[in-house]
Amino acid sequence: MLVKCLVEDSINELLESTIQKTYEGIIEHPIFIKIQPKLTNSHGLHCYPNIRAYERLPSGIDNEFASLVKMEYNDMFHYISISEEGYNNNKITLLEEDVYWNYDCYTQQQINDFPELCYFTHVLTHELQHAWQYDSPHELIRYMHEDKKEIPNLDEHFYRTICEYDAEVEAMNKRREFLDYLLLLQGVSVDESI
Ligand SMILES: [Zn+2]
Repeated sequence: MLVKCLVEDSINELLESTIQKTYEGIIEHPIFIKIQPKLTNSHGLHCYPNIRAYERLPSGIDNEFASLVKMEYNDMFHYISISEEGYNNNKITLLEEDVYWNYDCYTQQQINDFPELCYFTHVLTHELQHAWQYDSPHELIRYMHEDKKEIPNLDEHFYRTICEYDAEVEAMNKRREFLDYLLLLQGVSVDESI
């Protein structure tokens, strides 16, 4: 499974391993993830571009990645952008009123010590679910709309389309597992009792 992350030097390789471990056999096409300074009107963005459509490769995508996409994946890959503004704002401070989803799945210690990763794992698992939707159109939706009233704290925005609802519910369910595994690889043990 081909994954390339440009988030922070200290965690890029760990992120790549975490995604490979969590999404092997689920997401088929290569995944490129980048913290994006220009993304200011949303927290994350998923695109499914054809690598041959670029006149010049996006910065961070090298020839080796591009060649593999062309040779083995029918020219298609997942391009996920995460807002640099959102990431940095959460790194400095995490004010509850500033985030529109709740963090109740994370331990207080995780929120205190890794606020930017709590933010990041939420946005990333949402965008990775969009990637899964593209790779498995026959299955498309894991969470049915009929259940929507039973999910507390889900922002009104996510009820508007089936894909957004599916991605956000998946993020709420998977983000903690993803963070736990990422921290485990970093050698951080989280005290559940705090
Ligand atoms: Zn979305």
